[in-house]
Amino acid sequence: MTQKTPQNTLKYDVIVIGGGHAGCEAAGASARIGAKTLLLTHDPATIGEMSCNPAIGGIGKGHLVREIDALDGLMGRVADCAGIQFRLLNRSKGPAVRGPRAQIDRGLYRREMQKALAETPNLTIEAAAVADIVVEKSHVAGVLAEDGRAFHGRAVVLTTGTFLNGLIHIGTQTTPAGRHGAAPALGLSERLYALGLPMGRLRTGTPPRLDGTTIDKAALEVQSGDDAPTPFSFLTTGIETPQTVCHITATTPETCRIVADNITESPIYSGRIEGPGPRYCPSIEIKIKRFPDRTRHQVFLEPEGLDDDTIYPNGLSTGLPAEVQKAFIRTLPGLEAVRITRPGYVIEYDHVDPRALTAGLQVKALPGLFLAGQINGTTGYEEAAAQGLVAGMNAARLVDGAETAIFDRAEAYLGVMIDDLITKGVSEPYRMFTARAEYRLTLRADNADRRLTEKGAELGLVGARRKHAFEAKTKAFAAARAQAERWALTPNEAAAHGLSLRADGVRRSAFELIGHPQVGWDALAAIWPQMRDWSADIRDYLSAEALYAGYMGRQNDDIAAFRRDEARRLPPDLDYGRVAGLATEAREKLTAARPETLGQAARLDGVTPAALTLLLHYTRKMDSDAA
Ligand code: FAD
Repeated sequence: MTQKTPQNTLKYDVIVIGGGHAGCEAAGASARIGAKTLLLTHDPATIGEMSCNPAIGGIGKGHLVREIDALDGLMGRVADCAGIQFRLLNRSKGPAVRGPRAQIDRGLYRREMQKALAETPNLTIEAAAVADIVVEKSHVAGVLAEDGRAFHGRAVVLTTGTFLNGLIHIGTQTTPAGRHGAAPALGLSERLYALGLPMGRLRTGTPPRLDGTTIDKAALEVQSGDDAPTPFSFLTTGIETPQTVCHITATTPETCRIVADNITESPIYSGRIEGPGPRYCPSIEIKIKRFPDRTRHQVFLEPEGLDDDTIYPNGLSTGLPAEVQKAFIRTLPGLEAVRITRPGYVIEYDHVDPRALTAGLQVKALPGLFLAGQINGTTGYEEAAAQGLVAGMNAARLVDGAETAIFDRAEAYLGVMIDDLITKGVSEPYRMFTARAEYRLTLRADNADRRLTEKGAELGLVGARRKHAFEAKTKAFAAARAQAERWALTPNEAAAHGLSLRADGVRRSAFELIGHPQVGWDALAAIWPQMRDWSADIRDYLSAEALYAGYMGRQNDDIAAFRRDEARRLPPDLDYGRVAGLATEAREKLTAARPETLGQAARLDGVTPAALTLLLHYTRKMDSDAA
């Protein structure tokens, strides 16, 4: 372990390593809080690079982007500038599971992210390949670059994505790399092993890139965006970037035959790869092996940019040899004469078992070191960015001497994700879904600002512009809701307006009626014309709140019970061997995981309700003995 800080060290509060999605948000959050922050990355021109699909958001992932935005993070605003096709997914379902998504112009996203970071006060960006972490007196003290420069930092946030010991596979060819065209990070990986952190190996893959001018689009189905784009950011008032379309094609029986005939040449099936891959983003090899009777697998042809002819064929991730890729891809309608500009590949890389982290994403065994993003076993830009924000915020707080701040499972998807990671670990790359959250009616994409902006402001994450916009919006929402609760009708009065309600003589407010699926907004606006003046935001807010009002009482009770368990903290040095009656399995699991709260303990596999009761009594007794 490096024990001494070399001469000529440059001093910072927080050093962020990596300019990917986690790194950008970590640096932004740390600097917004006021920490003197340094972002070190291989090449600042690649900051904000989207290594795989040119899209942001979706169901669960779109929720995360809204939460990042509510905390004044960068991803939502940048995606709004770079979005070239916006779609609100699950529009026909309830507001709780609707997710904003956009196709992104890759180059524009990079430029806008770099611009946003360049305009961030307290933030310095430098090119450096970091080779090692400096540790002094069991606390992080800085980093060393490969070229010998040393940087002193009181906290370090490591966000190196797929670069740790990265190895790219195309057929039988293997190349050490962090992603296409970038060297892997070897020294850092060795350092993490040397620190004794639990490490694992995971893999992911990407499809070949296509020359769009060689695609026959005339024959293909067109997929357009929404007529009225739904932006990610609560601050965006309109999308100004020109919009474009995607095309849809699909595999044929011939595609499947070629893939099946060559499957043993894929690194995924040849036994050359150790780590599991993303379950919900499988390669074409896996899809064909798993569903041998299915020959039609849909493929979305997604443009990578407005001034870029490159097409990303979403659904065709592969590690097959380049010549096999060329053969199978030309069997898809529209792609008969397509030119591959870059073959698809599989990458495997080291990750850290996130159970080694606290809820603030700090390494338990090494104070001052924070980890965020793909390094923690997640997949996806949004998951990485959300962790980056939390790690960057807590790194800055540590330097300030402030306590770790967290967002819990009842207030944010990012709280759900981090809690899942640190309590359950990962057996495959972790991706966010709405089904992972217990309190979905509360955790909606539309209300992320109402859940988080005020707390973000208290934590120093939220700037004046957003604060003022949020206060104005809160006032307008409250006024509209109060009005909707004042207006009311009896069933007879409703009948006079052509509305049929149960004849029970009960007066129902406009707010209640908004929540009735059979009473449309237009019918109510015909009775109370002022409703027509309300913005789309107010309309969405009232519709969602009214729809779920009947269920909120129960959910709020559940949240209160959850918070009681979360509030009971477990000492980090608790000797579980002294908790009488605890079963061996529970004792071992608790000793290994060292949960920070009773709630976290409850979510560990093998910790039963009986074990929790014993633990509760034991900690209560400890409290009363100490009092
Ligand atoms: P990255 O975006 O990878 O950023 C890492 C950053 O760290 C880079 O800026 C790099 O230069 C820097 N860095 C690394 N080591 C050092 C060092 N030693 N010194 C200085 N800087 C360093 N996600 C999906 O959701 N679906 C997919 O299908 C999918 N497929 C993928 C396929 C491939 C081939 C790859 C590479 C990624 C894929 N991903 C996919 C994952 C997605 O790209 C990541 O989840 C996301 O980019 C992770 O963000 P991050 O910030 O953790 O890391």
